[in-house]
Formats: sequence, C-alpha cells, structure tokens
Amino acid sequence: MPPLPVRTLHGRTRDCPRCRQPIRYYVLKNWVAPTPFFYCDTCNNILLRASDARRVPAGSTIDVKDDEQLLELWETIVASAPLCPCGGRFAVWANVKCPACRQEFPYNQGVLSAALRVNERNVIVIDGAAVLGDTDEQSWVARIEL
Ligand SMILES: [Zn+2]
Ligand SMILES: [Zn+2]
Repeated sequence: MPPLPVRTLHGRTRDCPRCRQPIRYYVLKNWVAPTPFFYCDTCNNILLRASDARRVPAGSTIDVKDDEQLLELWETIVASAPLCPCGGRFAVWANVKCPACRQEFPYNQGVLSAALRVNERNVIVIDGAAVLGDTDEQSWVARIEL
C-alpha cells in the first residue's frame, strides 16, 4: 500500500482513563447519517466508503424497524470489507482505542443499540489513524494538532 496523503486537523485531547496518556482526536461529523463507517478491531483505522453510503436506502428514517434493517446492512458490508492494512478486521461494534495502551473505549458505555449505531454522527479520528475510502485517492491519514 503506497503512503496515503496526510490531512492535518485541529482536534482535541483527552487522557486515557487507563494509562493517562493524552490521546489526540478529531470528531469528523458524519452529517449525512445514516452512513456506514467502521473502526478496525485492532487499530484505529476507519473504513468510510462512498460506495457503502450509496447502499443505504433513500429516506431511511430514525425508527426502530429501519434501524434493525440498517444494522443488518452494516453487518453485510463489513462481512465483505477488505482487511485493514494492519491485518485487523473492520467491525460494527469495534471502537476507538488508546494508541498507547490499546485499551478499547466501550461504545455507548457498552450498550449495543442499533438505533444509536446506525445513526452515529461522530466519527472519532485518532491521531495517526487512516480514514480509508474506496480508493487510495479517497483515503488519508490523520495528523491531529491542538
Ligand atoms: Zn491508554
Ligand atoms: Zn487496523
């Protein structure tokens, strides 16, 4: 994989609750939610592809039945997604991790809600993570500055 372009973003920092190392991150707003995106189960890379967004039926609404159907679509998408360049897998319930101690932060305090997950508007981009689109040209690595 060729080196991806670096995108410098002005983000924030929060101390890891376990190791206390400051973690730099940026909140990428996913305003066109429901849009599928997935964190790697091993690193902080994110799969965010326009081709996946086009698979969401137009007019999907915030209603429980739709959310369950969308979650099935999310599962279908990740099942055939490529492996992360690190060798990990993108997963519906994978979440961001501390880059220092690798502690994974629980999604929604550990409560797995289809409604929250498919309508999630905040994509957390950790410093150094790659945001992977359909092609290398649509992919980038985040450098977070404060
Ligand atoms: Zn940590
Ligand atoms: Zn990975």
